[in-house]
Amino acid sequence: MDVKHALVTGATSGIGLAIARALASEGMNISIGGLGTDDEIADICNSLMVAGAHMATHDPADMRDPKAVRAMIDKAAKRFGGIGILINNAGIQHVAPVAEFPIDKWDDVLAINLSAVFHASAAAAVHMTAADWGRIINISSVHGLVASPDKAAYVAAKHGVIGLTKTMALEHARGGITVNAICPGWVRTPLVEQQIVARAKASGKSLDEEASLLVADKMPSGTFTEADDVGAAVQFLCGSASASITGTSLIMDGGWTAQ
Ligand code: NAD
Repeated sequence: MDVKHALVTGATSGIGLAIARALASEGMNISIGGLGTDDEIADICNSLMVAGAHMATHDPADMRDPKAVRAMIDKAAKRFGGIGILINNAGIQHVAPVAEFPIDKWDDVLAINLSAVFHASAAAAVHMTAADWGRIINISSVHGLVASPDKAAYVAAKHGVIGLTKTMALEHARGGITVNAICPGWVRTPLVEQQIVARAKASGKSLDEEASLLVADKMPSGTFTEADDVGAAVQFLCGSASASITGTSLIMDGGWTAQ
């Protein structure tokens, strides 16, 4: 591969889009996954080209469908002559106590936040092994390290992602493939905004007041983690200085898990 190829799942919004933009700025071929209208996706691909991507393409695979996830990887690898970088980022949240947690929501959260990481990584590892180089970065969460009430499916999936990261890192320790996780604290994306809206509805407070309370409750820094900073961390983990970093979790949580 003359030009590096990175595939970012869930890159039509939030953290995934910021990661795709960061990698595009290095002139890579960028494949993105994620939901969106045709117009939204065309705009996002154009914006990635403006950011510096060599080429930017989208695959509409539903991350709940294992066959579609694996086919997305193989199609993208075929298009660009391999796949050097895989960012497993797509994710959803559902908030409810375990006794009331809807079964379909449990299944969706586990399928998108954990099983899709397994399927995409398994398919990508074949292409990376053939090239003897690869970077797999899984966007876990502080909830891969600690729990919060009412987030059973998310917490279980994100802990699972960290276990999968360590296992794959060991399986590939002797090759040129590294596998790491990133654990952000609160990042103000649509996934978190829906939780802020629900809290504001319940409390009668403004969205900004609830956003400040949400952050103050967990993050000693008192500020959100920036999506662009997660993009910069991904760039670092993909660079040559990170060749010996594998099986780790990079925590970007303003001190949340240090308490
Ligand atoms: P987001 O809602 O802004 O983006 C989620 C992305 O996943 C979108 O592109 C969406 O289209 C895609 N997606 C959702 N369901 C899909 C499906 N069935 N098939 C294909 N794509 C699908 O969320 P975000 O906050 O940017 O989250 C990105 C990742 O970061 C998630 O894994 C999330 O758990 C993790 N994370 C987020 C935060 C935060 O505070 N926002 C903190 C820690 C970790």
